[in-house]
Amino acid sequence: MSRAAIVGAGPAGFYAAEQLLAAGDAVDLYDALPTPFGLVRAGVAPDHPKIKSVTRIYEKTAARDDFRFFGNVEVGADVSREELLARYDAIVYAVGTALDNRMGVPGEDRPGSVPATEFVAWYNGHPGFADRQFDLSADRAVVVGNGNVAIDVARMLVLGDDELAPTDTADHALDSFAGSGVREVVILGRRGPAQASFTNPELRELGELQRADVAVDPAALDAVTGTEDLTPTAQRNVEILREYAQREPSGKSHRIVLLFLRSPLEVAGDGENGAVAGLRVSVNELDAGGRPVPTEREELIPCGLVVRAIGYRGRPIAGVPFDATRGLIPNDGGRVTGPDGEPLPGEYAVGWVKRGPSGVIGTNKKDAAETTARLVEDRDAGRLNRPSEESSPDAIEAWLRERVPGVVSWGGWQRIDAYEAAAGKTAGRTRRKVVRIPEMLTLAEAEGESEWPPIATTRA
Ligand code: NAP
Repeated sequence: MSRAAIVGAGPAGFYAAEQLLAAGDAVDLYDALPTPFGLVRAGVAPDHPKIKSVTRIYEKTAARDDFRFFGNVEVGADVSREELLARYDAIVYAVGTALDNRMGVPGEDRPGSVPATEFVAWYNGHPGFADRQFDLSADRAVVVGNGNVAIDVARMLVLGDDELAPTDTADHALDSFAGSGVREVVILGRRGPAQASFTNPELRELGELQRADVAVDPAALDAVTGTEDLTPTAQRNVEILREYAQREPSGKSHRIVLLFLRSPLEVAGDGENGAVAGLRVSVNELDAGGRPVPTEREELIPCGLVVRAIGYRGRPIAGVPFDATRGLIPNDGGRVTGPDGEPLPGEYAVGWVKRGPSGVIGTNKKDAAETTARLVEDRDAGRLNRPSEESSPDAIEAWLRERVPGVVSWGGWQRIDAYEAAAGKTAGRTRRKVVRIPEMLTLAEAEGESEWPPIATTRA
């Protein structure tokens, strides 16, 4: 039996854990937060509770023998890669892609020009973003990007209070959305309807919103020809968009506009540091390879909020190889590779930090299978890392608890979970999230208490 430290308790980390446990290995699953589930908790939109229910599968993994959770431990900050290598036969990096791509245009850092990473984490109650404030007073917002994250953000901006109320949207975000002045959200694509990376159900959902009409310029669809070479998903996207283009406005209070063939040129505003007042864009054409080419035409879209949802990239971990161009950990089928391209003994990557931010939650299961198969192959061939320190389960836990204060066990998380579920039930919601780490730790440590300690779920 080998013992692996998996770093990151999102879907990829959990699928890798399940597979290693099934192969007879022991797993310690680390997360920087006191709470598990990564983007299922902090990324998936709160109005998609069915998608979030995948955590039931991860709970089954956590209930297995030889599984331990060490939450509130940031690898690379609280403990180092080298300290883990001194104690484990293998490390599996499952840290995802925490940073956002930048548009690279002037004015990108103006107040009101924000990355989707932060906006999504904020409305989902990620403790690192609980104090962020977003000015939702302007009547138009632009979301840049034609992927599902752009759709999630646009939808959240137009859902009604009654639609958000039953969800696990963070309390601070519910307050902000309730006072929002946003009436129109423009989803901006640099290419055409046929090149959008939306998936069909998500695009279809935009046309079924309670208080928002969806609008598409028919001319954008007229320009789409030769769809037979497209993937089935892209073909269906075009059909859905054609139907949207023919719709008459039904007089709903809000509107989502899909605007294609536009690239951001500048986030406009007053002076150098004034808040966002608009987005200047080029009108594009597509070249023969389907790439966007700016024409001489430009437009200014007046707006007070620009959210860029143009893809994610990984954050490097101290000491771990990192491909800064691609924003991920270099690897060969999941084996982390060093500067010479050769695998590093006992180090693996899985999920978005391995392959880039693509696919749905389930994609990570197959991805994890590739990585864990290699780990097991290396184990059986005696090629894993060789720990230099005492590496019994007890010795590792004793070291960690001495080294890092406030390590959260699975039992600790279950207490946070039970509190959130109970607080949600009282309020008629799926869950009321605790958004501050000290309060999470109070709950995690409240073993055997008959009363919940007083916890504020809202902004201080
Ligand atoms: P994505 O699907 O890769 O979409 C990124 C979008 O950003 C693309 O339309 C891309 O356009 C555009 N883009 C990139 N650079 C740009 C630039 N400089 N200027 C303008 N546009 C730019 O990524 P995502 O939306 O972040 O989603 C990540 C993954 O999570 C995807 O696999 C997605 O399906 C998944 N996800 C799924 C759900 C769900 O199932 N409900 C929800 C959220 C996310 P080009 O194509 O022209 O490069």
